Amino acid sequence: MKTARSGTRLPARKAAGTPYFPARPSRADSFTESVIREMTRLALQHNAINLAQGFPDFPCPPELKMAACDALHADINQYAITWGAKDLRDALARRVKQYNGMAYDPETEITVTCGSTEAMMAGLLATIRPGDEVIVPEPFYENYGPDTQISGAVPRYVRLGEDFAIDEEAWKAAFTKKSRAIIINTPNNPTGKVFSRSELSFIADLCIDHNMVAITDEIYEHILYDGKRHVSIAALPGMRDRTITIGSFSKTYSVTGWRVGYALAGREITSRLRKIHDFLTVGAPAPLQHACVTALELPESYYRELARDYDRKRKILYNGLKKAGFSCELPEGAYYIFSDIAGFGMDDVTFARHLVEKAGVAAVPGSSFFHEGGKTKLRFTFSKKDETLLEACRRLSQL
Ligand code: GLN
Repeated sequence: MKTARSGTRLPARKAAGTPYFPARPSRADSFTESVIREMTRLALQHNAINLAQGFPDFPCPPELKMAACDALHADINQYAITWGAKDLRDALARRVKQYNGMAYDPETEITVTCGSTEAMMAGLLATIRPGDEVIVPEPFYENYGPDTQISGAVPRYVRLGEDFAIDEEAWKAAFTKKSRAIIINTPNNPTGKVFSRSELSFIADLCIDHNMVAITDEIYEHILYDGKRHVSIAALPGMRDRTITIGSFSKTYSVTGWRVGYALAGREITSRLRKIHDFLTVGAPAPLQHACVTALELPESYYRELARDYDRKRKILYNGLKKAGFSCELPEGAYYIFSDIAGFGMDDVTFARHLVEKAGVAAVPGSSFFHEGGKTKLRFTFSKKDETLLEACRRLSQL
Protein backbone atom coordinates (compact mmCIF):
# COMPACT_ATOMS: atom_id res chain seq x y z
CA MET A 1 0.00 0.00 0.00
CA LYS A 2 1.40 3.41 -0.99
CA THR A 3 1.65 5.87 1.84
CA ALA A 4 2.29 9.59 1.82
CA ARG A 5 5.43 10.85 3.57
CA SER A 6 3.51 11.64 6.75
CA GLY A 7 2.55 8.00 6.94
CA THR A 8 -1.13 8.61 6.22
CA ARG A 9 -2.72 6.27 3.74
CA LEU A 10 -3.45 7.56 0.26
CA PRO A 11 -6.98 6.88 -0.97
CA ALA A 12 -7.23 3.53 -2.72
CA ARG A 13 -7.11 3.71 -6.52
CA LYS A 14 -10.20 2.92 -8.49
CA ALA A 15 -10.30 -0.46 -10.15
CA ALA A 16 -7.29 -1.18 -12.32
CA GLY A 17 -7.71 0.17 -15.84
CA THR A 18 -9.75 3.16 -14.69
CA PRO A 19 -7.21 5.93 -14.35
CA TYR A 20 -8.13 9.12 -12.49
CA PHE A 21 -7.65 11.18 -15.61
CA PRO A 22 -8.66 9.62 -18.89
CA ALA A 23 -5.54 9.80 -21.04
CA ARG A 24 -6.84 11.90 -23.91
CA PRO A 25 -4.40 13.33 -26.39
CA SER A 26 -3.44 16.95 -25.90
CA ARG A 27 -1.10 19.48 -27.49
CA ALA A 28 1.40 18.66 -24.76
CA ASP A 29 1.89 15.22 -26.33
CA SER A 30 3.47 16.74 -29.42
CA PHE A 31 6.69 17.85 -27.72
CA THR A 32 9.05 16.68 -25.01
CA GLU A 33 10.22 18.38 -21.84
CA SER A 34 12.99 20.91 -22.28
CA VAL A 35 16.35 19.20 -22.68
CA ILE A 36 18.13 22.38 -21.55
CA ARG A 37 16.33 22.33 -18.21
CA GLU A 38 16.80 18.56 -17.96
CA MET A 39 20.55 19.00 -18.34
CA THR A 40 20.49 21.42 -15.41
CA ARG A 41 18.80 18.76 -13.29
CA LEU A 42 21.41 16.20 -14.39
CA ALA A 43 24.22 18.65 -13.62
CA LEU A 44 22.87 19.11 -10.10
CA GLN A 45 22.50 15.36 -9.66
CA HIS A 46 26.11 14.71 -10.69
CA ASN A 47 27.55 17.82 -9.11
CA ALA A 48 28.77 18.86 -12.54
CA ILE A 49 29.62 22.36 -13.79
CA ASN A 50 26.53 23.57 -15.60
CA LEU A 51 27.56 24.87 -19.02
CA ALA A 52 24.17 23.69 -20.29
CA GLN A 53 21.56 26.26 -19.29
CA GLY A 54 22.40 29.83 -20.19
CA PHE A 55 22.34 31.71 -16.91
CA PRO A 56 25.13 33.48 -15.03
CA ASP A 57 26.68 32.07 -11.85
CA PHE A 58 27.87 35.58 -10.95
CA PRO A 59 25.85 38.33 -9.27
CA CYS A 60 23.70 40.93 -10.99
CA PRO A 61 24.68 44.63 -10.76
CA PRO A 62 24.42 45.80 -7.11
CA GLU A 63 22.16 48.71 -8.13
CA LEU A 64 19.50 46.22 -9.21
CA LYS A 65 19.60 44.31 -5.94
CA MET A 66 19.23 47.55 -3.99
CA ALA A 67 16.35 48.65 -6.18
CA ALA A 68 14.57 45.30 -5.72
CA CYS A 69 15.02 45.52 -1.93
CA ASP A 70 13.79 49.13 -1.98
CA ALA A 71 10.69 48.03 -3.90
CA LEU A 72 9.88 45.40 -1.29
CA HIS A 73 10.51 47.84 1.57
CA ALA A 74 8.20 50.30 -0.18
CA ASP A 75 5.53 47.58 -0.18
CA ILE A 76 5.27 47.23 -3.92
CA ASN A 77 3.62 43.87 -3.36
CA GLN A 78 0.50 44.00 -5.47
CA TYR A 79 -0.15 43.56 -9.16
CA ALA A 80 1.33 46.12 -11.50
CA ILE A 81 -0.84 47.26 -14.41
CA THR A 82 -1.29 44.08 -16.41
CA TRP A 83 0.74 45.26 -19.42
CA GLY A 84 3.54 46.60 -17.21
CA ALA A 85 4.23 49.28 -14.60
CA LYS A 86 3.99 52.70 -16.22
CA ASP A 87 7.45 53.84 -15.14
CA LEU A 88 8.98 50.71 -16.65
CA ARG A 89 7.14 51.10 -19.97
CA ASP A 90 8.19 54.76 -20.08
CA ALA A 91 11.82 53.84 -19.38
CA LEU A 92 11.69 51.09 -22.02
CA ALA A 93 10.34 53.51 -24.61
CA ARG A 94 13.30 55.84 -23.96
CA ARG A 95 15.86 53.04 -24.05
CA VAL A 96 14.51 51.43 -27.23
CA LYS A 97 14.55 54.81 -28.98
CA GLN A 98 18.13 55.40 -27.93
CA TYR A 99 19.59 51.93 -28.60
CA ASN A 100 17.43 50.46 -31.36
CA GLY A 101 16.33 53.75 -32.93
CA MET A 102 12.66 52.76 -32.75
CA ALA A 103 9.73 54.75 -31.34
CA TYR A 104 7.06 52.84 -29.42
CA ASP A 105 4.20 54.36 -27.47
CA PRO A 106 4.40 53.04 -23.90
CA GLU A 107 0.61 53.36 -23.56
CA THR A 108 -0.34 51.22 -26.53
CA GLU A 109 2.71 49.47 -27.96
CA ILE A 110 4.83 48.09 -25.10
CA THR A 111 3.89 45.07 -22.99
CA VAL A 112 5.95 43.82 -20.05
CA THR A 113 5.84 40.02 -19.84
CA CYS A 114 7.12 37.16 -17.67
CA GLY A 115 10.40 36.91 -19.50
CA SER A 116 10.88 36.64 -23.24
CA THR A 117 9.50 33.10 -23.00
CA GLU A 118 6.04 34.43 -22.31
CA ALA A 119 6.44 37.22 -24.86
CA MET A 120 7.15 34.66 -27.61
CA MET A 121 4.18 32.50 -26.61
CA ALA A 122 1.84 35.48 -26.31
CA GLY A 123 3.16 36.85 -29.61
CA LEU A 124 2.38 33.61 -31.43
CA LEU A 125 -1.03 33.19 -29.81
CA ALA A 126 -1.86 36.79 -30.72
CA THR A 127 -1.02 36.41 -34.41
CA ILE A 128 -1.52 32.74 -35.35
CA ARG A 129 -4.62 30.80 -36.20
CA PRO A 130 -4.33 27.01 -35.83
CA GLY A 131 -3.04 25.59 -39.10
CA ASP A 132 -1.05 28.67 -40.08
CA GLU A 133 2.55 28.00 -40.96
CA VAL A 134 5.37 29.55 -39.01
CA ILE A 135 8.86 29.68 -40.51
CA VAL A 136 11.52 28.62 -38.02
CA PRO A 137 15.17 29.01 -39.05
CA GLU A 138 17.19 26.04 -37.86
CA PRO A 139 19.12 25.52 -35.62
CA PHE A 140 16.70 27.30 -33.27
CA TYR A 141 16.36 27.95 -29.56
CA GLU A 142 14.62 24.91 -28.15
CA ASN A 143 11.45 26.71 -27.01
CA TYR A 144 10.33 27.71 -30.50
CA GLY A 145 9.36 24.14 -31.40
CA PRO A 146 6.89 23.70 -28.52
CA ASP A 147 5.82 27.36 -28.84
CA THR A 148 4.61 26.76 -32.39
CA GLN A 149 2.90 23.50 -31.36
CA ILE A 150 1.12 25.15 -28.42
CA SER A 151 -0.13 27.96 -30.64
CA GLY A 152 -1.50 25.40 -33.11
CA ALA A 153 0.88 26.52 -35.86
CA VAL A 154 2.58 24.22 -38.31
CA PRO A 155 6.34 24.84 -38.13
CA ARG A 156 8.27 25.03 -41.42
CA TYR A 157 11.97 24.72 -40.75
CA VAL A 158 14.55 26.43 -42.92
CA ARG A 159 18.16 25.32 -42.42
CA LEU A 160 20.94 27.82 -42.06
CA GLY A 161 23.77 26.64 -44.31
CA GLU A 162 27.52 26.52 -43.88
CA ASP A 163 28.74 29.41 -41.72
CA PHE A 164 25.04 29.81 -40.86
CA ALA A 165 24.39 31.63 -44.11
CA ILE A 166 20.88 32.03 -45.58
CA ASP A 167 20.22 29.90 -48.66
CA GLU A 168 17.92 32.42 -50.35
CA GLU A 169 16.32 30.00 -52.80
CA ALA A 170 15.54 27.42 -50.09
CA TRP A 171 14.06 30.12 -47.88
CA LYS A 172 11.91 31.53 -50.68
CA ALA A 173 10.58 28.04 -51.35
CA ALA A 174 9.57 27.59 -47.70
CA PHE A 175 7.31 30.65 -47.70
CA THR A 176 3.84 29.64 -48.88
CA LYS A 177 0.32 31.05 -48.91
CA LYS A 178 -0.19 29.56 -45.46
CA SER A 179 2.89 31.25 -43.95
CA ARG A 180 1.79 33.67 -41.28
CA ALA A 181 4.91 34.39 -39.23
CA ILE A 182 8.65 33.90 -39.01
CA ILE A 183 10.62 33.54 -35.81
CA ILE A 184 13.93 35.39 -35.87
CA ASN A 185 16.56 35.26 -33.15
CA THR A 186 19.53 37.61 -33.42
CA PRO A 187 22.10 37.39 -31.89
CA ASN A 188 21.29 33.74 -32.22
CA ASN A 189 21.05 30.98 -29.67
CA PRO A 190 22.71 28.44 -30.16
CA THR A 191 24.94 29.52 -33.10
CA GLY A 192 26.00 33.01 -32.03
CA LYS A 193 25.14 34.28 -35.50
CA VAL A 194 24.34 37.98 -35.74
CA PHE A 195 22.03 38.62 -38.70
CA SER A 196 23.29 41.41 -40.93
CA ARG A 197 21.20 44.29 -42.21
CA SER A 198 21.14 42.77 -45.70
CA GLU A 199 20.05 39.35 -44.42
CA LEU A 200 17.29 40.99 -42.40
CA SER A 201 16.27 43.06 -45.44
CA PHE A 202 15.92 39.82 -47.42
CA ILE A 203 13.68 38.40 -44.66
CA ALA A 204 11.75 41.68 -44.42
CA ASP A 205 10.98 41.58 -48.15
CA LEU A 206 9.66 38.03 -47.83
CA CYS A 207 7.48 39.06 -44.87
CA ILE A 208 6.05 42.00 -46.81
CA ASP A 209 5.48 39.95 -49.98
CA HIS A 210 3.64 37.23 -48.04
CA ASN A 211 1.88 39.58 -45.62
CA MET A 212 3.55 37.97 -42.63
CA VAL A 213 4.52 38.89 -39.10
CA ALA A 214 8.12 38.77 -37.88
CA ILE A 215 8.49 37.69 -34.27
CA THR A 216 12.03 38.54 -33.30
CA ASP A 217 13.78 37.47 -30.14
CA GLU A 218 16.56 39.97 -29.47
CA ILE A 219 17.44 39.22 -25.88
CA TYR A 220 21.19 39.04 -26.58
CA GLU A 221 21.22 42.42 -28.33
CA HIS A 222 23.96 43.78 -26.06
CA ILE A 223 26.19 40.70 -26.17
CA LEU A 224 28.15 41.27 -29.39
CA TYR A 225 31.81 40.78 -30.31
CA ASP A 226 34.42 42.04 -32.73
CA GLY A 227 32.57 45.24 -33.60
CA LYS A 228 29.34 43.47 -34.67
CA ARG A 229 26.26 45.75 -34.63
CA HIS A 230 22.75 44.73 -33.66
CA VAL A 231 20.01 45.40 -36.21
CA SER A 232 16.32 45.15 -35.30
CA ILE A 233 14.19 44.00 -38.21
CA ALA A 234 11.37 46.26 -36.96
CA ALA A 235 13.55 49.25 -37.84
CA LEU A 236 13.65 48.28 -41.53
CA PRO A 237 11.22 49.94 -43.97
CA GLY A 238 7.70 48.51 -43.91
CA MET A 239 8.34 46.26 -40.91
CA ARG A 240 7.33 48.27 -37.86
CA ASP A 241 3.69 47.29 -37.77
CA ARG A 242 4.23 43.69 -38.75
CA THR A 243 6.94 42.92 -36.18
CA ILE A 244 6.88 41.84 -32.56
CA THR A 245 10.27 42.64 -31.04
CA ILE A 246 11.00 40.68 -27.90
CA GLY A 247 13.51 41.89 -25.32
CA SER A 248 14.42 40.86 -21.81
CA PHE A 249 16.27 41.90 -18.68
CA SER A 250 17.46 38.32 -18.08
CA LYS A 251 20.68 38.25 -20.08
CA THR A 252 21.61 41.94 -20.27
CA TYR A 253 21.41 42.40 -16.51
CA SER A 254 22.11 38.82 -15.36
CA VAL A 255 18.71 38.29 -13.73
CA THR A 256 17.30 35.26 -15.57
CA GLY A 257 15.21 34.24 -12.55
CA TRP A 258 13.40 37.56 -12.27
CA ARG A 259 11.27 36.73 -15.28
CA VAL A 260 10.91 40.20 -16.72
CA GLY A 261 10.80 40.62 -20.47
CA TYR A 262 8.81 42.69 -22.93
CA ALA A 263 7.22 42.82 -26.35
CA LEU A 264 7.20 45.84 -28.66
CA ALA A 265 4.64 45.91 -31.46
CA GLY A 266 2.29 48.23 -33.27
CA ARG A 267 -1.02 49.09 -31.67
CA GLU A 268 -3.10 46.45 -33.42
CA ILE A 269 -0.86 43.49 -32.59
CA THR A 270 -0.22 44.84 -29.09
CA SER A 271 -3.91 44.99 -28.23
CA ARG A 272 -4.24 41.29 -29.05
CA LEU A 273 -0.97 40.35 -27.39
CA ARG A 274 -1.99 42.18 -24.21
CA LYS A 275 -5.22 40.19 -23.98
CA ILE A 276 -3.33 36.92 -24.28
CA HIS A 277 -0.73 38.12 -21.77
CA ASP A 278 -3.37 39.24 -19.29
CA PHE A 279 -5.16 35.91 -19.22
CA LEU A 280 -1.93 33.89 -19.26
CA THR A 281 -0.06 35.56 -16.42
CA VAL A 282 -1.76 38.85 -15.39
CA GLY A 283 1.69 40.35 -15.14
CA ALA A 284 5.38 40.10 -14.34
CA PRO A 285 6.51 40.45 -10.67
CA ALA A 286 5.73 44.05 -9.61
CA PRO A 287 8.73 44.74 -7.31
CA LEU A 288 11.13 43.40 -9.93
CA GLN A 289 9.54 45.55 -12.63
CA HIS A 290 10.32 48.48 -10.36
CA ALA A 291 13.97 47.37 -10.09
CA CYS A 292 14.17 47.00 -13.88
CA VAL A 293 13.65 50.77 -14.20
CA THR A 294 16.96 51.13 -12.36
CA ALA A 295 18.56 48.68 -14.80
CA LEU A 296 17.57 50.91 -17.70
CA GLU A 297 19.24 53.87 -15.98
CA LEU A 298 22.68 52.22 -15.89
CA PRO A 299 25.35 54.19 -17.79
CA GLU A 300 26.55 53.22 -21.28
CA SER A 301 29.78 51.93 -19.73
CA TYR A 302 27.75 49.09 -18.22
CA TYR A 303 26.98 47.68 -21.67
CA ARG A 304 30.55 48.07 -22.86
CA GLU A 305 31.82 46.18 -19.82
CA LEU A 306 29.20 43.46 -20.27
CA ALA A 307 30.34 42.82 -23.85
CA ARG A 308 34.00 43.04 -22.85
CA ASP A 309 33.56 40.54 -20.00
CA TYR A 310 31.70 38.11 -22.25
CA ASP A 311 34.39 38.49 -24.91
CA ARG A 312 36.97 37.33 -22.37
CA LYS A 313 34.77 34.42 -21.27
CA ARG A 314 34.14 33.45 -24.87
CA LYS A 315 37.87 33.14 -25.48
CA ILE A 316 38.49 31.13 -22.29
CA LEU A 317 35.86 28.55 -23.28
CA TYR A 318 36.88 28.54 -26.94
CA ASN A 319 40.52 27.84 -26.10
CA GLY A 320 39.53 25.14 -23.61
CA LEU A 321 37.23 23.41 -26.07
CA LYS A 322 39.85 23.52 -28.82
CA LYS A 323 42.48 22.02 -26.52
CA ALA A 324 40.08 19.27 -25.53
CA GLY A 325 39.54 18.31 -29.18
CA PHE A 326 36.24 20.02 -29.95
CA SER A 327 35.80 21.63 -33.31
CA CYS A 328 34.26 25.10 -32.96
CA GLU A 329 34.26 28.74 -34.02
CA LEU A 330 34.16 31.90 -31.95
CA PRO A 331 30.54 33.13 -31.91
CA GLU A 332 29.67 36.64 -33.17
CA GLY A 333 27.21 37.28 -30.37
CA ALA A 334 25.20 35.78 -27.45
CA TYR A 335 26.95 33.49 -24.95
CA TYR A 336 27.12 30.01 -26.42
CA ILE A 337 29.62 27.95 -28.38
CA PHE A 338 27.99 25.47 -30.73
CA SER A 339 30.69 22.84 -31.09
CA ASP A 340 31.09 19.88 -33.39
CA ILE A 341 31.74 16.54 -31.70
CA ALA A 342 31.95 14.27 -34.75
CA GLY A 343 35.57 13.46 -33.86
CA PHE A 344 34.56 11.87 -30.54
CA GLY A 345 32.59 9.05 -32.12
CA MET A 346 29.51 9.39 -29.91
CA ASP A 347 26.13 10.93 -30.67
CA ASP A 348 25.17 14.14 -28.91
CA VAL A 349 22.93 12.63 -26.23
CA THR A 350 25.38 9.84 -25.35
CA PHE A 351 28.27 12.30 -25.30
CA ALA A 352 26.38 14.84 -23.17
CA ARG A 353 25.61 12.06 -20.66
CA HIS A 354 29.20 10.90 -20.72
CA LEU A 355 30.44 14.44 -20.10
CA VAL A 356 28.15 15.11 -17.19
CA GLU A 357 28.80 11.76 -15.52
CA LYS A 358 32.50 11.23 -16.27
CA ALA A 359 33.96 14.71 -16.76
CA GLY A 360 31.60 16.66 -14.50
CA VAL A 361 30.61 19.20 -17.17
CA ALA A 362 27.08 19.64 -18.50
CA ALA A 363 26.32 20.78 -22.06
CA VAL A 364 23.21 20.61 -24.25
CA PRO A 365 22.88 17.93 -26.96
CA GLY A 366 22.77 19.54 -30.39
CA SER A 367 19.59 17.73 -31.44
CA SER A 368 17.64 19.98 -29.04
CA PHE A 369 18.12 22.79 -31.56
CA PHE A 370 16.89 20.92 -34.64
CA HIS A 371 13.65 19.23 -35.54
CA GLU A 372 15.85 16.57 -37.14
CA GLY A 373 19.60 16.17 -36.89
CA GLY A 374 22.13 18.03 -34.76
CA LYS A 375 23.54 14.76 -33.45
CA THR A 376 27.13 15.85 -33.99
CA LYS A 377 26.70 19.09 -32.04
CA LEU A 378 26.97 20.10 -28.41
CA ARG A 379 26.19 23.55 -27.02
CA PHE A 380 28.21 25.07 -24.18
CA THR A 381 27.40 28.37 -22.48
CA PHE A 382 30.11 30.71 -21.22
CA SER A 383 27.79 32.80 -19.03
CA LYS A 384 29.84 31.80 -16.01
CA LYS A 385 32.60 33.18 -13.79
CA ASP A 386 36.08 32.93 -15.33
CA GLU A 387 37.08 30.47 -12.61
CA THR A 388 34.06 28.25 -13.38
CA LEU A 389 35.01 28.21 -17.06
CA LEU A 390 38.68 27.50 -16.30
CA GLU A 391 37.73 24.58 -14.07
CA ALA A 392 35.35 23.25 -16.75
CA CYS A 393 38.17 23.51 -19.32
CA ARG A 394 40.52 21.67 -16.97
CA ARG A 395 37.98 18.86 -16.63
CA LEU A 396 37.39 18.71 -20.38
CA SER A 397 41.13 18.55 -21.07
CA GLN A 398 41.20 15.23 -19.19
CA LEU A 399 38.66 13.63 -21.48
N1 GLN B 1 18.11 30.84 -22.83
C1 GLN B 1 18.81 29.96 -21.96
C2 GLN B 1 19.38 28.78 -22.73
O1 GLN B 1 19.19 28.66 -23.90
C3 GLN B 1 17.94 29.50 -20.83
C4 GLN B 1 16.74 28.82 -21.31
C5 GLN B 1 15.80 28.52 -20.22
O2 GLN B 1 15.98 27.52 -19.59
N2 GLN B 1 14.82 29.34 -20.00
O3 GLN B 1 20.04 27.98 -22.12
